[in-house]
Formats: sequence, C-alpha cells, structure tokens
Amino acid sequence: MDEKRRISLERASKLNEEIEDFLAFKDEFLRKTSEIRDVLSSKHKEELMDYFGADENDWNDWHWQLHNRISSVSLLSKFIKLSDEQYKMFEEISKKYRWATTPYYLSLMDYEDMSYPINMMALPTAAENDTSGELDPMSEEYTNPAPCITRRYPNRLIINVTSSCAMFCRHCQRRRRIGESDRIESEENIEAAIEYIRNTREIRDVLITGGDPLMLPDEMLEKIISRVRQIPHVEIIRIGSRLPVTMPQRITKELCDMLKKYHPLFMNVQFNHPGELTKDAVAACERIVDAGIPMGNQMVFLKGINNDKYIVQLLNEGLLKARVRPYYIFHPKQVMGTRHFEITVEEGLKIMKYLRGHTSGLAIPQYILNAPGGLGKIPLLPNYIIESDEEHIVLHTWEDREVEIIY
Ligand code: SF4
Repeated sequence: MDEKRRISLERASKLNEEIEDFLAFKDEFLRKTSEIRDVLSSKHKEELMDYFGADENDWNDWHWQLHNRISSVSLLSKFIKLSDEQYKMFEEISKKYRWATTPYYLSLMDYEDMSYPINMMALPTAAENDTSGELDPMSEEYTNPAPCITRRYPNRLIINVTSSCAMFCRHCQRRRRIGESDRIESEENIEAAIEYIRNTREIRDVLITGGDPLMLPDEMLEKIISRVRQIPHVEIIRIGSRLPVTMPQRITKELCDMLKKYHPLFMNVQFNHPGELTKDAVAACERIVDAGIPMGNQMVFLKGINNDKYIVQLLNEGLLKARVRPYYIFHPKQVMGTRHFEITVEEGLKIMKYLRGHTSGLAIPQYILNAPGGLGKIPLLPNYIIESDEEHIVLHTWEDREVEIIY
C-alpha cells in the first residue's frame, strides 16, 4: 500500500469514529420516534375517526380536519388522560391564550408523555403564565406602511392576509395577532396592500403570510396571488405556511395546480422536529415541489424540542430527503407566554458549529436573530477567525485545527 493510501485510510477511519455517536443516537431516536410517529399515530388516527364517526375520505379532507379541531379540554381529555391539576391548568391557560389542534396533529402526540416535543408545540403548559417578555418584540405596528403590510427592507415586504392558523403553536412568535380570532383580512385591506405594492416600484419580492395564507380557500388565495403577479416589478412571490406540517391534507392537487400558474413562486414551511416528518407531511411537500415550487424550511430553536445538535441534524437530513432545503433557523424572540422555549445564542452557535463538518452544506441553514424593533435579520455565525491582519489570517477548522494563510 502506498503512503498516500495509508494516510487516506487512517483519516477515513478517524472520520468514521467522528460520526459513530450520531449514528447510534440516530438508530435509537428513529426507533422511538417511528414507534410514535408511524405506529402509535395510526392507532390514534383510528380512535379519532371512530370518535368522530369519520372515514378515510373525511380524514383526508382539510375542511373536515378544520371543522373537527380539538380546542376544548373536555374533548382533549377523551384522548389524553389529564390529571385534575393539568385539566385545571389547561382551562386557565385557555382563557388567556387560545389553543387548538387538528385531529391529524393530535394523532402524532404521545398520549402518555406531555414532554414529547409534538405535545409541547400544541398543548398549553403552566409556563405560559409567565408575563415577562413582550407581545410585539418586532414592533410590527411600526413597520406597517399600509394595511396588512410589514416592510423592513428596501425591496421586499410581507402581506399578512389572515390571522387564522390550523393550530395555535405554543411557541408562536406572533401571538399578538394569532389566536384571538380567525380573521381573514377584508377585501378592502388586501386591495389597499396590493395598491401599495403596485405604487412602490422598489418592491421585487412579496411574501404572502399570516397567520397561514393556505387557510384561505383556493379562489380567494388565487385572487390575491394573481393580482400580485400582474404587478410588473414584482419578480418573485413567496408563501409562508405551516399547513404542510400541521394539516398536510390542505396540500391538494387543485391547490398545487393553481399555484403553479404563478411562477416564480417559493414556499417556506416550519418543521421543528423529526416527529413532524410523517409520510403525509413528506407527501404534501413532494406535491408542492412537483409543482415546481422550491421549498425551504424555517425552523425555530425551541428548548426541549430541538436544542440538540443530533435532532437538528436528523431533521435537516430528513428534510433534504423530502426535497425541502433547510433555509433558516430562527433564534426565538422574547415573546410573552413563550419564554420557556428560549435558548441562548451561545447554545445555538454550538449546534451550528457542530453541523459544519458533520452534514452536507445543503443541510446547514442560516442561523438568524431578528433584531428587536423590526430592524431586520442578523445572521449569527460561529467565529472561525482567530486573528487577522494585513499579512495573515489564522482560522480554525470544523475539527478545531488551527490553520494560517499568509497573504
Ligand atoms: S402556524 Fe405559525 S403563525 Fe400560526 S400559530 Fe403556528 S407559529 Fe404561529
């Protein structure tokens, strides 16, 4: 064996060792997750269909899913056994912050363990009583030059077309707008927003969001998208939706056929945990991608859900298999009632540093902190530069080896 091959083999064997812990974690984690995500969820689905007297066609109909949302403690307790204390706490929190989950998302939960990430994202906890933080840390009220519009950048903006969502995520950073009511913006307001875009030639990129814009019926959504598309200076349209995750039944062939008439169109979703990557959710993403719509994922770092390097890696690698590109990881904002999900930037950076070198670049999103006051996105990067001047730069690699480049 020549020397070069010997060195390469030695290096390859070290690289294998480097990933052994992750592979052991992956086997165990996927075994447990698939027990709940794939096996238990089918049992839960049968029970839920039985309870509602529904069949497979009903279950696969998004209108049925919406109509049968679970939003009362008494109904929830028919499926998940709640202690008296939990029952009381759920009732108390319900008065403060609305909650609801689709039957589909409920079927993904672990009925025995309230600390399972899917449960945590959908069901209230006593920690929501904490009154620290703000309801509008992004000062959206001050970046609102026309009805339904949020504008923070020179050439792109957001239209919020509705405050409705299929479920009310406990970590929602827009609690101020979401959950109080299911309100679709009036035609008059949407018209004023479109008029603003038409009169602002600087805007080339429009993000349609909410709430969740896919809560609108196809015709209403098409009316908005087609009118934005007619504006000559709008180059791209983006849709922000969590429905592929919380109610994948919404991603119908009809919806995809409608959307693909308005390219270039992009869609961003929010998967936060591998337990959300079910067969139904993956199939929904594939229908969107097959319609020629590139998909990106915007995860939020959430304590107890995904503040773990291996979970983020598994999620991102799973997303790539579903043809969804991990696009952003958001640092959680200091929103009242969600502070129990916060992590430190330090912790987030450690996870980002781990990802580099341990997974494909395609599975490494940008870590973003939204500046308070609506001042825009700040990318957060682990620091790889040790020192730098006119003559040289010293850096460290993903393995923490020091390298120097002399100019
Ligand atoms: S889908 Fe998005 S906007 Fe709606 S409740 Fe969840 S996080 Fe908030």
